[in-house]
Amino acid sequence: MTDMRKVLIFDTTLRDGEQSPGCSMNLAEKLEVARALQALKVDVIEAGFAIASPGDFEAVRAVAEMITDCTVCSLARSMEKDIVRAAEAVKPARRPRIHVFCATSEIHRLHKLKRAKEEIVKMSVDAVKLARTFVGDVEFSPEDASRTERDFLAEVVSAVIEAGATTVNIPDTVGYAMPAEFGDLIRYLVANVPNISRAIISVHCHNDLGLAVANSLAAIRAGAGQVECTVNGIGERAGNASLEEIVMGINTRRDFLNVSCGVSTQRIYPTSRLVSSVTGLAVQRNKAVVGENAFAHEAGIHQHGMMANRETYEIMKPEDIGIPSSKLVLGKHSGRHALKQRIEALGHTLDDGQIDRAFDKFKVLADKKKEVFDEDIEAIIGEEIEQVAQVWTLQAVQTVAGSTATPTATVTLSREGQSTTDAAIGDGPVDAAYEAISRITGVKLTLRDYSLRAITSGKDAQGEVTIEVEHEGRRFRARGVSTDIVEASARAYLAAVNRAAAGTW
Ligand SMILES: [Zn+2]
Repeated sequence: MTDMRKVLIFDTTLRDGEQSPGCSMNLAEKLEVARALQALKVDVIEAGFAIASPGDFEAVRAVAEMITDCTVCSLARSMEKDIVRAAEAVKPARRPRIHVFCATSEIHRLHKLKRAKEEIVKMSVDAVKLARTFVGDVEFSPEDASRTERDFLAEVVSAVIEAGATTVNIPDTVGYAMPAEFGDLIRYLVANVPNISRAIISVHCHNDLGLAVANSLAAIRAGAGQVECTVNGIGERAGNASLEEIVMGINTRRDFLNVSCGVSTQRIYPTSRLVSSVTGLAVQRNKAVVGENAFAHEAGIHQHGMMANRETYEIMKPEDIGIPSSKLVLGKHSGRHALKQRIEALGHTLDDGQIDRAFDKFKVLADKKKEVFDEDIEAIIGEEIEQVAQVWTLQAVQTVAGSTATPTATVTLSREGQSTTDAAIGDGPVDAAYEAISRITGVKLTLRDYSLRAITSGKDAQGEVTIEVEHEGRRFRARGVSTDIVEASARAYLAAVNRAAAGTW
């Protein structure tokens, strides 16, 4: 193999992904995802936007303290207070990076920043220079680059490299670019920015027209050396370029793209499962690479071809992505070691104490159900991670409902060992249970979305309730699981109340 150019994978699941509605994660969840990203061998982890809130700051700092193998980065606007805060947050990292941005397109200059071109250049240069006083690794993004006048974009890029930026990231912030056009923009910068060889060109594409991955690959072809992406493509609006699609695009079409990347592809599927379970955002069935149907061959003629030779219809192997060859089912005779192995295969890294508690819950469940599936195990782990923020716990919920009865719920919660019981009526048993929980806790949430699904098949399947709630202007999701759907609903609501009470949404 000739020496292929290496493309760096910059993961922003914890920043751009986490910022999107309904994807918020608490500190324990962010750390779990960061550990999984390190095992996946991404090059850079953008851990958050340190100035955004004390919680964001703490998360970036905790990731910076824990991660040893990846660069850890915080986002910052081109403002002194942002940069100082970002520097403080990434300080413990082995390889810290500060990522500063400033909008450059005419529409942003006129309407958002209300500044002339020269002022934008000055702000950007000053920001990069200040960031360089804290770290040697500084990334600069001209926000809305794809809608910025090309000559002005080249001017800004050249100026920030002169000021010390080591990576220049070209974002298609609004997902407006077309692949050939975006590749052309990168080629233009390579040709027209005299000092471009002193920095790595990065791209950050949004998926508003479904082209984020296509645009990123076009940019790689044109010379980009870093791509920003998220696991499962989560992110603002229609999301970001999906990490798994970019990585498998690079790996599968090495012959055409002539580049490589360092990602450990066998960790793709477990990481996808992990991000889906901690955010509560399901992966669509027909999603490329990690969707449930991505490797399913239903049509008879395809099945016939597959049996003759897998390559007739398969351009990637499921095992290369870490998809288990068969669904392993655990039962009540499975030991702690088998459970631990399964937990690791699902992308989680729990400490011994957490595994002990998960094993206790597993045994209780295995007694109720004959077969315990991956989804059941994920539900147990989910509760274990969320427990960090547990203020109230559910002791009992009892409901009366039916076509002629007034739906009534009686709920008992405990807090620091003290039990409180209250009852309420509602439009249905779930509504009544939510009303009773609100009365006891004094926390009133606005329910925006409610969904119930059976997480495995069979009559003894567990019901998983995912809700999206609004509290003090912020939306977040929470989940509850039980073989009883009213109890699962109450658990989901209580998890949301606990998050609101602890301020960790
Ligand atoms: Zn973005």
